[in-house]
Amino acid sequence: MIEFIWDILFPRRCALCDGVLPVGERLRCQKCGNAVIYIGEDYCMKCGKPVREGEEFCADCAGRETSYESGRALFLYDSLMQKSISRFKYHGRCEYAQFYGEELYKRFGGWVRSVSPDALIPVPIHKKRYQKRGYNQAELVAKELGKRSGIPVISDYLERRKNTLPQKELSERERFSNLYDAFCVRSVTRELYNNLNCVIIIDDIFTTGSTIEACSKTLRVQGIEKIFFLCISIGQGI
Ligand SMILES: [Zn+2]
Ligand SMILES: [Zn+2]
Repeated sequence: MIEFIWDILFPRRCALCDGVLPVGERLRCQKCGNAVIYIGEDYCMKCGKPVREGEEFCADCAGRETSYESGRALFLYDSLMQKSISRFKYHGRCEYAQFYGEELYKRFGGWVRSVSPDALIPVPIHKKRYQKRGYNQAELVAKELGKRSGIPVISDYLERRKNTLPQKELSERERFSNLYDAFCVRSVTRELYNNLNCVIIIDDIFTTGSTIEACSKTLRVQGIEKIFFLCISIGQGI
């Protein structure tokens, strides 16, 4: 009853189109549930991008060495997702994390159990950006997934020491130098969590994978041997 009244006073919004949800509906509307595109059964074994049937790797990953093992992503990054994630990141819709976390768990709960990580590690944002925005979107998603899977979330392990430019505005070469040395782990933090051997990095969007690779490299230097990732959304691999 209280929840019912609450829903009338503070209507929930669809995490995809931001439309007000009918009372009693949670997280997303019916129309968007049918419109959003989940990554299907044919995905790149390395990065999780959709590939043609029978293909093992996408064009980006074929022959590419990475410091991480592999990762999976939930939704195709189309205009519906682009708008959803943009509201989530830049327009204060932090409650969307519940939807993303729940969908990640529904889709990849089994995969997470098989990986059996010691922790979920969200990609950090720079502290100046954090102060301005008030939250780190990847951390909110990691916490929602952590709550459902029982895997601890360690948000203060990786630190972003450079307030990097948005990757999407840069060429591949610029992306690399933009992210070079962008992440670090303080020695006091390393000592605090000295038993990590396997982790899953959590992020919102996977485009070229350079952010995940930069985080993963930093984690490998700390002696973490197995690194995987999960993302809400990913581009097309074909
Ligand atoms: Zn909707
Ligand atoms: Zn790939």
